[in-house]
Amino acid sequence: MSAWEPVVGLEIHVHLKTRTKMFCRCPVGFGAGENTQTCPVCLGLPGALPVINRRAVEWTIKLGLALGCEIRGHAVFARKHYPYPDLPKGYQISQYDLPSCVDGKVILPSADGDREIGIVRAHLEEDAAKTVHVGGRTGRIGGADYSLIDFNRGGTPLVEIVTAPDIRSADEAKRFLQLLRQTIVELGISDAEMEKGALRADANVSVRPAGSNELRTRTELKNMNSFTFIARGIEAEVERQVGVWESGGEVRQETYDFDAASGKLTPRRAKEEADDYRYFPEPDLVPVEPPAELVERLRGELPEPPGARIERLEGTLGLERSSVLVTGGLDRLWEETVAAGAEPVQAANVIANALMGAGVDPGSVSATELARLVDARDRIPRAAFDEAVSKLGEPGFSADPYLTQEAVSDESELEPVIARVLEANPGEVEAYRGGKDGLLGFFVGQVMKETQGKANPRVVSELVKAKLSA
Ligand code: ZN
Ligand code: MN
Repeated sequence: MSAWEPVVGLEIHVHLKTRTKMFCRCPVGFGAGENTQTCPVCLGLPGALPVINRRAVEWTIKLGLALGCEIRGHAVFARKHYPYPDLPKGYQISQYDLPSCVDGKVILPSADGDREIGIVRAHLEEDAAKTVHVGGRTGRIGGADYSLIDFNRGGTPLVEIVTAPDIRSADEAKRFLQLLRQTIVELGISDAEMEKGALRADANVSVRPAGSNELRTRTELKNMNSFTFIARGIEAEVERQVGVWESGGEVRQETYDFDAASGKLTPRRAKEEADDYRYFPEPDLVPVEPPAELVERLRGELPEPPGARIERLEGTLGLERSSVLVTGGLDRLWEETVAAGAEPVQAANVIANALMGAGVDPGSVSATELARLVDARDRIPRAAFDEAVSKLGEPGFSADPYLTQEAVSDESELEPVIARVLEANPGEVEAYRGGKDGLLGFFVGQVMKETQGKANPRVVSELVKAKLSA
């Protein structure tokens, strides 16, 4: 595999959470009854005229600025034609050769230094309606009895972001998307929830001999609805293409659906040439010409980007921990917890693992109480610590009742338990003595279980180690 290098570009669509749709005043939102949020404009009735949503334009510019793009002083909406039942006008209004945002870049902090991912463009368009296939087993059109269309989604503002083919691995694609998602969420322009379809990503994938600059035929992966699936889809496609080239074949330009459950790639249709969408400028809309003062005002409103925060925390926490905190929207709580006196790495671990594992909303947590718990973590029983963490989000939570509990650190109390555990697991004892150091955690875990989480794990760990090396 090391002889081949993946070349990946991403196309991301993001729903903007404006109050109304892109070209009409119907409300945007999930969960309303089917076909209740429609009007002549978004149903594409003859004679209906679109009007540009000002807020959607401003948010697109804001996102473009956050992605380091140049904001064009003259952008034009165009009609992109394709026939589909959920596209009532027979065309989608999008931006074509004159998009609002071009030539950006995103810095992606990585283990081997900063990576720069180019942004080719970010443009504004409207979403299609939603087709629901009924009666089939898969929810896809194949095998369905009939299909229904919900026009509520039709006309929702969408930003399409196209990256340069600068991504070099499945993991990098995943980390880029996590960073992009967090950027979008913090701008307040979208919830960017993949499971609701508010953020959708397609990947263009090719491979080339490592070290070369050529661009070989690429394929397109669609229908991937989580960061993990995207990474797995890219991995599977890279492997497939390497296999094709190495067996003397040729990769064909195709579109694939990745099925996460089976790990299988299914080709959709062969693409011999680019689709001809017969673009032409939308005659019913004026060009988008944002005044320079507006662009500068929006630039002034940008928060510190997540990538910069990862870089700032990296020195203290390392790349992995910093990324988890920042892309999880947890770094502000971490900063407050550290300011309240908690040890930085311990605080990061408790927030990223215990707190998130317990499903606590970080926004509802008192950093002061959290800091006290982080500090007491080794002194109080594990069970008490876990319970306290799970309740951190409750209003008026106080760590006091938990901090008075003492973990059992008394050797005379712990030694008989440890002896019992070692006696019950002779195989593991032998393996540990033979060099499998990782089994230490197993023994500690058994002792914790025997003591119902009341033992001090650090003391147990030391006692087990001493005992086994005796
Ligand atoms: Zn409408
Ligand atoms: Mn699009």
